[in-house]
Amino acid sequence: MHIRLSIGSAVSLGLRAAKMEAAPTTVYTLLGETCLGACRFCTQARRSDADRQLLSRVIWPEFELPAVLDSLQADNGIRRVCIQTLLYPDLLDDLLATARQLKAASDAPLSICMNPVDKDWLIALKEARVERVGVGLDCATETLFAEMKPGFSWHRYMQFIDETIEVFGAGSVHLIAGLGETDKELVQAFQTFHDKGCGIALFAFTPVRGTQLDLSPPPLERYRALQLARYLIAYNQARVDDMTFADGKLVDINVDPAVSECAIEAGTPFRTSGCPHCNRPMYNERPGGARYNHPAPLTPAEKSAAREALWRYLRISSTD
Ligand code: SF4
Repeated sequence: MHIRLSIGSAVSLGLRAAKMEAAPTTVYTLLGETCLGACRFCTQARRSDADRQLLSRVIWPEFELPAVLDSLQADNGIRRVCIQTLLYPDLLDDLLATARQLKAASDAPLSICMNPVDKDWLIALKEARVERVGVGLDCATETLFAEMKPGFSWHRYMQFIDETIEVFGAGSVHLIAGLGETDKELVQAFQTFHDKGCGIALFAFTPVRGTQLDLSPPPLERYRALQLARYLIAYNQARVDDMTFADGKLVDINVDPAVSECAIEAGTPFRTSGCPHCNRPMYNERPGGARYNHPAPLTPAEKSAAREALWRYLRISSTD
């Protein structure tokens, strides 16, 4: 059996040689060669003319599974393993078999990102010692979901998210900024899924030639404000009701300035979000370009740049 690895994961496991701007702390694997889905932004969608090696901006070469399992057994600083899945007819059998083999090779926690399946499969994955299952909802609203993810059902995704929480005790929802949603819609989605018991993995829309969607990536200033909003909600330091919007744009976060300043100074809101130890280097970024999600602690210069970007986008004020 074969499995695909992000190029950075392949380098970390010693299966490829390449220069990296940052090393992944999670091994990212991918099951499937092409997807039956038709998500308009996705390189792997069945209607996409993008390079099939790509998922977002990352190349995913294929390897023999036994070689990957062998290299996972070495101590290489890997803190988590993630299986991302395309939609294809034998996916579930492959997924269960792969999860069992990965768990036999490594004690690292195992995450899966997948489209909705019957709850029995979630129970089988839990029994195979999968730690958590996340879902690529991608869109902040039902209307946008219908436009961007034709063929999928918003209501089925909502049911599936609830089922992942029932089976695993917590959920994980991937959302993309820059698909046409307002800040208010996205921040409301952060709150809704946080209140359900989900972590939010936030991504920036990344245009890739050959996909169906011709949009620009979100402005970095906007993304920094959304990252701060996500972080404050995730750590119960603010709620959507503490935020002010003008025509859907986030203009103010009404928290004690010490709270927001502490978060900004730590730089944590601007790190990659998702499962623990997920850092996804270069998933949304061009080499040498702006870092939407920082894969490592921010340098003082990166923190200053993030703070200035926030100030350009919004004002952070006190409630008193
Ligand atoms: S289901 Fe996932 S992999 Fe398939 S087209 Fe949609 S976003 Fe891409």
